[in-house]
Amino acid sequence: MEAEVIRARKLDSVRILAGGIAHDFNNIMMGILGNLNLAKMFLNQPEKLEARIDEAEKAVNRAKDLTHQLLAVAKGGNPVKKTASVAEIIKESGEFVLSGSNVRLELDVAEDLWPVDVDVGQMNQVMSNLLLNARQAMPKGGTVRVEARNVVVTAEDRLPLPDGRYVFILVRDEGVGIKAEYLDRIFDPYFTTKDRGTEKGTGLGLAIVYSIMRRHGGYVNVESKEGQGTVFYLYLPASDKDVPLVEEPQKPLQKGR
Ligand code: ADP
Repeated sequence: MEAEVIRARKLDSVRILAGGIAHDFNNIMMGILGNLNLAKMFLNQPEKLEARIDEAEKAVNRAKDLTHQLLAVAKGGNPVKKTASVAEIIKESGEFVLSGSNVRLELDVAEDLWPVDVDVGQMNQVMSNLLLNARQAMPKGGTVRVEARNVVVTAEDRLPLPDGRYVFILVRDEGVGIKAEYLDRIFDPYFTTKDRGTEKGTGLGLAIVYSIMRRHGGYVNVESKEGQGTVFYLYLPASDKDVPLVEEPQKPLQKGR
């Protein structure tokens, strides 16, 4: 890309980010201010007063959540790594996000999967964000398929990763898909095609996924066709500890954005 195009693209991202934060915090401040003003009017009506204070408190909590999410994009809190199983993380997040929904989880997870050294909370967040997006992309229900297997990455694979052993995870949905012109932007903080300000879209989910994956020495990418569905690919470095012997690990799929 030409330097000028890159600069314009960065400015665009910053504009979206700044606008998103300003918009969200403004809404929250209005929520606090409005409820405090009403509270003053209800000083002699304890029940109404309490209801207003409760609402103001909720708004403050929303601000707290938002700050946590933004920090997760920026630096993500110190990852507290331990040796863990990707299979467990997938199952736990699947239950958390999809139970009670009309979206079915189909699993194809290799039994001899190498363990990974990860912050389990952060990796749960990665999987939950991807599964939540898949669920929202299939409002009429459907199947989300998650595969996981061992791969050895080499320079030939042209991935932005050092050579080595990785656990490869694929999350495929049969939802609405992503417009080609959006594919470059979906990992940008505050990029969303969903209603902002509702529970539905913050535009921070994939920015958090990207940030956490990079901090774990991993990689995430996407392929999608509008109207057909979306696939996210993730690579996580395998742990050096407790590696079960695997004779011939499969090659990773060829990726590239
Ligand atoms: P949010 O979900 O709050 O909008 P994300 O960062 O998680 O924020 O996603 C950004 C955008 O990427 C979404 O608004 C949507 O347009 C697109 N997207 C992400 N995952 C999917 C998916 N599985 N199917 C279709 N579109 C998706």
